[in-house]
This record gives sequence, C-alpha cells and structure tokens, in this order.
Amino acid sequence: MNEDNLKEKEELKPSISFIEQFIAEDIKDGKNGGTIVTRFPPEPNGYLHIGHAKAICLDFGMAKKYGGKCNLRFDDTNPVKEDVEYVDSIKEDIHWLGFDWDNREYYASDYFGKLYNFAVELIKRGLAYIDDQSAEIISNQKGTPNQPGTVSPYRDRQVKESLDLFERMNKGEFEEGSRTLRAKVDMTSPNMDMRDPIIYRIIKSPHHRTGNKWNVYPMYDFAHGQSDYFEGITHSLCTLEFEVHRPLYDWFVEQLKTSDYRPRQIEFNRLNLTYTMMSKRKLLELVQEGNVKGWDDPRMPTLCGLRRRGYTPESIKRFVDLIGYTKVEAINDVSLLEHAVREDLNMKSPRVFGVLNPLKVIIQNYPEGQVENVELINNPEDENMGKRHVPFSKEVYIEQDDFMETPPNKFFRLAPGMEVRLKGAYIIKCEGFKKNPSTGIIEEVYCTYDKETRSGGSGSERKVKGTLHWVSAAHAADAEVRLYDRLFNHEDPSGQKDDDYRKFLNPDSLKILTGCKVEPSLLTAKPLEKFQFQRLGYFCVDSDSTESKLVFNRTVSLKDTWAKVNK
Ligand code: ATP
Ligand code: MG
Repeated sequence: MNEDNLKEKEELKPSISFIEQFIAEDIKDGKNGGTIVTRFPPEPNGYLHIGHAKAICLDFGMAKKYGGKCNLRFDDTNPVKEDVEYVDSIKEDIHWLGFDWDNREYYASDYFGKLYNFAVELIKRGLAYIDDQSAEIISNQKGTPNQPGTVSPYRDRQVKESLDLFERMNKGEFEEGSRTLRAKVDMTSPNMDMRDPIIYRIIKSPHHRTGNKWNVYPMYDFAHGQSDYFEGITHSLCTLEFEVHRPLYDWFVEQLKTSDYRPRQIEFNRLNLTYTMMSKRKLLELVQEGNVKGWDDPRMPTLCGLRRRGYTPESIKRFVDLIGYTKVEAINDVSLLEHAVREDLNMKSPRVFGVLNPLKVIIQNYPEGQVENVELINNPEDENMGKRHVPFSKEVYIEQDDFMETPPNKFFRLAPGMEVRLKGAYIIKCEGFKKNPSTGIIEEVYCTYDKETRSGGSGSERKVKGTLHWVSAAHAADAEVRLYDRLFNHEDPSGQKDDDYRKFLNPDSLKILTGCKVEPSLLTAKPLEKFQFQRLGYFCVDSDSTESKLVFNRTVSLKDTWAKVNK
C-alpha cells in the first residue's frame, strides 16, 4: 500500500458510515427517546481476533459518540463449546482496546428462563410445535429457495401435547437429537430461515454458568433478537451473514413486543484479511495441533497475539477506521494493518540500537579502555521524548550485512577502503578484515576512526554516504529476537476448495535469532515496551523476557530509508 493509494482510500471514504447515518437519523427523529443502546455479543468459544475489533469499535464507538451505552453480552447458548477462560480473555481484550461496559455484563444464559417462557407462550399461541424428527430429516424437508419445503407431520400436533413434550424434554426424559421445538412460520417462504426454524434443541452437557439446570437450549436465532429486546437494544449491529436472518429476527420480536419499541438490526461487512484466517474454530485447531504456540502467539490474528506482537490499540482502531463499514464483502490487505501500526509506533517509540546479526568492528586507533557517552535523540518525531547517552568504545558490533568484502556499486555501507558514519559517533574507515579460511565467514573488521568527526563536534560536518547503527561490544546486552513472517503463504488460506488451510502454513513464519546485541539502556525494558531498532523495524519486549534474558518480537519491519542500495 503506497501513500497515494492510502490518500485515495481516505478521500473515497464517506465522512460517516451508512450505519452512523441511520443512527444519527434515528436520534434526530427522537426514536427510542433519542437514545442509543448497542451490544457486543461474543460467543465465549475462543479468543477475540482483529475481526471482532471491527465490531467492537462500531458497537462501543457509536454508543460513545452518541452519548449512549454499549452492553457486553456473552452469547453462551451452546454449553458444549464455551468456557470461562474465554470469558475472561474477551473482557481483557475489550478493555485493552479502550472500551468499557460499566456494570452491564450480561449473558444470554441469564435469559434462559424468559426465553423458555416465551417459547411456551409461542406453543400456546399455536406458533411453535415439537417435532419428533431428527435435525437431518428436518433439514432435508426444507426444500430449496425456489421450491417450498415439505410440511412436517408434527406441524399440527395438539398444543397440549407440544407443551407436555417440551416440558419433558427439559426434564431430560429424551435423548439428544430425538426432538426439537420449531417455530411455526412459513414453509413456503422464499427465505429458508423462515421455514419453521428449530428454536430449541436438547443438550445434556452442563453449562458453564447454569450447570445442569437446563436440558434444552435455545438456538442463536431464538436467543439473539430476544436478548436484544430484553436489554432495550436500539441498534443491533452485526455482520452481513445475518442479513438473511433479519426477517426471522423481526418475526420473533413482533411476537414478543408489547409497545412501539423494537431493536433494529443493521448489517455490515465482516473483516477479512489477506494471508490471515479468522474463524475461531480454525484458530482453535491451530492452537490444539501445535501449529502456533497458543492463542497469544504473535503470529495469530487474535487481539492477545497482536498485543504480544507489539500492536497498539490505537493502531488497530486506526486500521478499522481506514477500512470503514460497508455492505460489500471484501478482503483487506494485511499491509494496511502493518501501515497503521508503523504510523503509530513511528510517533510513539523511542529509537534504540540493536544488532541482530553481529559482526565485530575493531577501531584500531581508538584508545584502549576509553568510553565516550554519545548523545542520541530518542525520537526525531517528538522532541519531548528527549535524549539518551549510549556508550561508545574501541570495539563495536555492526550488522553482518552492513559489510561486504567486494561490494556492488552504490553499496554505501562498509567495505575495504570505504568510510561510513557510526550514527551519533564517528566516521570510520575500513582498513582490513579477518576471514575464516574454511567457512569464508567474515569474523572481524578492522577500522580507523577520524577523531575530528564526532557528531556535534568540530569536524562533524564532513559527510559520508552511509550511516550505520552499532552497539559497543563491552556494553552490549545479549538478546533473543523473534522475527515473524506471515503465518500462511496463501492470500486466502481458508477460502480454498478442500478447506485445508494447513497446507498453506508458512514453514518460515518464525525465525529465532539468538546472540543479538542491543544497547544497554534496554536492560531495564519491561514486557510490551516498544522500540524502533534503528534501520530495522519496530520491536516489542516479549512476555518471555527476563532480566537475565531479553527477548524481543519484531512487530513490523521498517521501510528502509537509510540504506540507499538500489536493488
Ligand atoms: P468466528 O467466525 O470467528 O467464529 P463469530 O461471528 O462466530 O466469529 P462471535 O463471537 O459470534 O464470533 O462474534 C461476536 C461479534 O463479532 C458478532 O457480532 C460478529 O458479527 C462479530 N464478528 C465476528 N467476526 C467478525 C469479523 N471478521 N469482522 C467483523 N465482525 C466480526
Ligand atoms: Mg457467531
């Protein structure tokens, strides 16, 4: 993504989204007393990912902007897949993004009683019935969009009988899968969801909050709109795949409502990213099969993974803002996300020196034992971030690829007879090197320095074309650095025919460098602290880091504006 593309993108984007236009209009018209109440409804069956962030920013963001409220509601209607571990992580991640639900932490399971009573009410009104057929048969009877479905033989069963069976289903008298409760809507509707959808099924696993209290559980479609209604939600914002569910959502609310109030469902496009997989089920497989080291592996698109990788909440919100909300499914370029984090970290992160692949340079005419503290600016983008002192001495490390024995044209780094500036310190000239005769590896480089050229000193104006970062060998701290590449080497790893994303796993997605050398100021850095390693990229202290072993993650590389090598 280049800057021009970006600008174009920003200009094309309407100043407010279509959703915000609806909300602003409703408020202006005094609908719902001129208030807005939204909800974020995660299912606690996995960790939140960047796609969820898009929904969170909208749900919480709109409520905040228009002086309303956003509830957090766990959509815990399936006891088989849900767990408190996920509940806790979801709360942590929403807070990290900078949003809060005050005391409005709700659970769909809080409404199981009300939902059950509503289901009973529907049976009594002749709008629901118990079907003794299996879900598979019911599905086969559904017909096709152009062909009406086949009416179930149980559709006209007596109300009394359905009531009795529903009660006994909930008492646990029947096996899972043996019976369901269906809404009696319309078997000829062109909308398949309206063809007598199943609204309750028997599940005998204990629920993480209600234990063994229930043996019947509502389906998502039966729980969601009604929960919205119970909570007084005004705008129920969800992703496009729920558009076809909207008539059913409205149908249930219509049966339930007792006044003019009704929640309004509005759909927007979900976030898809290139080289990224977003399904929670598949992310769980990655974790369980050991293809990543956990939900917070820095290669994961989860919010905890991105956090550990060094992403900031601001960069994620900025990204969400850049892509906007539309009615068109799209796949966004992951490089736009990388752009957003670079832009944010550029402003916020102190510059430091870190050498990933060290090569020792010995400055032969520099006095033995002498140490000078050279002054360096912490962030040229923000002078409030001040300056720091970095020790310089006779032996320093530079990057291996900043030296070449026989350089090509325009290699403005170090090579025999060539001069470079060590940033913030002196101009040095390469006088020779030591090469391992059997491996061909360069082991040491010998230089002299021009003592008049210290940065800020009298001869500091003298210009050379290359400037290198460095770390004093005697003062350097050892570090491990983890470099990440895309987890998948296919643009759309989970959108392929056979659905086997595993074959697109990038075997080189993690590269661990040990023996890196970083400037001593980093010895006190704490997990999650972020830095720009000059000329290399943005790095973040990993949670594995300890005082005796520093560990950094590379968040994102830097567009290299210093090295003027024409490739
Ligand atoms: P997944 O497909 O990853 O399992 P989900 O939709 O089942 O996601 P939920 O926990 O039900 O996950 O999602 C909570 C909310 O987040 C829903 O309102 C859903 O629409 C929204 N959401 C989920 N994935 C995305 C996405 N990729 N982009 C935007 N919103 C999303
Ligand atoms: Mg869902």
